[in-house]
Amino acid sequence: MISDRETPVFLALGSNKGDRLEFLRNALKGLERGGFRILKVSSVYETEPVGCYDDSAPYFNAVLEGRWQGDAESLLHLCQSLEQAAGRPLDHAPMVARELDLDLLLFGDQIIQTAHLTIPHPRAAERSFVMVPLYEIAPDLVFPDCGLRVTEIYRSLLPHDGISAALCRIF
Ligand code: ADP
Ligand code: MG
Repeated sequence: MISDRETPVFLALGSNKGDRLEFLRNALKGLERGGFRILKVSSVYETEPVGCYDDSAPYFNAVLEGRWQGDAESLLHLCQSLEQAAGRPLDHAPMVARELDLDLLLFGDQIIQTAHLTIPHPRAAERSFVMVPLYEIAPDLVFPDCGLRVTEIYRSLLPHDGISAALCRIF
C-alpha cells in the first residue's frame, strides 16, 4: 500500500428515511469496498432535521475518519454512487428526506472550491449534528479555513439542541 499518498479525510453520514441504521452500516461497507480506509467512526446520534421541510423525520447522524488515495473529486463520486445505491436520486430536490447523505467535511488541510465541491464543508461548523459526533472522535482537529479546533466550534454551538445522547456504535 502507498500509505504516504493517503489523505486524512473526515466524512459526515446521515439518513432520515427507511431503515436508517442499515443505510449507515451499508455506507461503511460501500466505502471500504470502494477503497476508502476507515479508521474511526463516531457513535450514531438521533437528530432533529435542520433546514428541511417541517414534516421531515429525525436523522441518524455519525461522522468518520479515514484515508483516501485519490483526489477529493473521486471520493465525492464514490459517495454519490453510494447515495444512489441507497435509493437517493442524483438529481434529488434539496431538503427532501434521504436514505443516505454523505458529505466530505475535511480533505487533509486542503481548501477546495469547485462547481461540485466545497471543502471544508461550508455548513459543518454551524451544525451540531456534525460537530457533536466530530467532537467525539477528533476534538483537537483544526479546520484549515477558520483555524478553529473542533472543541472550540463544539463549545460555540452549545447547548446542542435537537441532538440525542449517543445511541449506538456501528463500527
Ligand atoms: P446537504 O448535504 O448540505 O444536505 P446535498 O447533499 O443535498 O446537501 O447536496 C449535494 C450537493 O452538494 C452535490 O451536488 C455536491 O456536488 C455538493 N457538494 C459541495 N460540497 C460538498 C461536500 N463537501 N460534500 C458533499 N457534497 C458537496
Ligand atoms: Mg450531502
